[in-house]
Amino acid sequence: MTAFRTLDSAELKGKRVLLRVDLNVPIENGHVTDTTRIERVASTILEIADKGGKVILMAHLGRPKGKPDPAFTLKPVAAAVAEVVKRPVAFAADCIGDVAAKAVAAMKNGDILCLENTRYYKAEEKNEPEFVAELAKLGDVYVNDAFSAAHRAHASTEGVAHLLPSYCGRAMQKELDALTLALSSPVRPLAAIVGGAKVSGKLELLANLVKKVDFLIIGGGMANTFLAAQGKAVGKSLCEKDLADTARSILDAAKAAKCQILLPVDANVAKEFKAHAPARFVDVDHVADDEMILDIGPNSIVAVEDVLNRAKTLVWNGPFGAFETPPFDAATMQIAKTAAFLTTDGKIKSVAGGGDTVAALNAAGVTDQFTYVSTAGGAFLEWMEGKALPGVEALRAK
Ligand code: AMP
Repeated sequence: MTAFRTLDSAELKGKRVLLRVDLNVPIENGHVTDTTRIERVASTILEIADKGGKVILMAHLGRPKGKPDPAFTLKPVAAAVAEVVKRPVAFAADCIGDVAAKAVAAMKNGDILCLENTRYYKAEEKNEPEFVAELAKLGDVYVNDAFSAAHRAHASTEGVAHLLPSYCGRAMQKELDALTLALSSPVRPLAAIVGGAKVSGKLELLANLVKKVDFLIIGGGMANTFLAAQGKAVGKSLCEKDLADTARSILDAAKAAKCQILLPVDANVAKEFKAHAPARFVDVDHVADDEMILDIGPNSIVAVEDVLNRAKTLVWNGPFGAFETPPFDAATMQIAKTAAFLTTDGKIKSVAGGGDTVAALNAAGVTDQFTYVSTAGGAFLEWMEGKALPGVEALRAK
């Protein structure tokens, strides 16, 4: 059972339901060009409407710097929501005050209304109590379905939850269930893959994971920093040599926590970083001074697959190589396919997230085969770092 209040226990009929959603979608020439985020919350919108609630959508769009700016109006987004849910969606040109209050007062049970961008007010990001109270006045119940914004304690993502009976929407619930399965109560052995460019961007992530996982597989540019810290020559590779001590302390912490770390044993190296550059496989002790490690090599892939075959749960953030530039996508593609196969075969549960990881799994064509792929970016990473997310904490069942 989930540790969070869900729509299953919410009284919705006849209630004004303030629903925080992620409508931060790309817009070109006044038209929404990608409705993925809207599709994700459609089932929550429809469930509340079908249960007789008045659905009042609350969201931000872009960074309007705390004042009204037509470049960031949610009006075209409200039209896109209407197309996705195939129902009329009214629009209020303000998210508080008379305009919003009148629009809400005109609603019947099952109606859907979209409020204007909450970030037209500086008080939104500052979570100012007066603004929180103004928003809360519009609703009887608060539902948060925007996990991707839950790492921020803003008025619409956190403040309102303390003034109204509050619940997770279905998209938020799915995300929390997946992340709980991945890190809070995983079936062991639990393996994590951390790849990507730099150690410096993922220090907290690595520090948290060594305490929690049984296997930590390190790939990408950040593996070079670990290899260099172990005295290996990494040539011209991306490498943060000044973080050698940090890398060694992560290795020590892993040892103390009985977390087995897997670093590449071989690599695909090239003298130039460009598509289809001449490349060779070499073991990590023999990288030449003028070469760059741009992907892990075949023996390393076998070692990773061996760990995945022993694991029951996998958490993945970050690619194994410079996957945007072939042939340095090879390891990421192959391991993505292996993880997908093990998942559909019922051998592991797999949860992945982070912008580049989602792009890599899409490129491998396996996103749908993973147990869950989070597109939440910052919020996903903060959860993996072991941080409490204010918007989520406010929904915890007491
Ligand atoms: P991150 O945002 O930290 O997950 O980093 C993702 C980026 O790391 C991608 O753009 C990859 O191209 C890049 N990357 C992964 N491995 C390497 C590598 N060995 N050398 C340079 N860049 C890499």
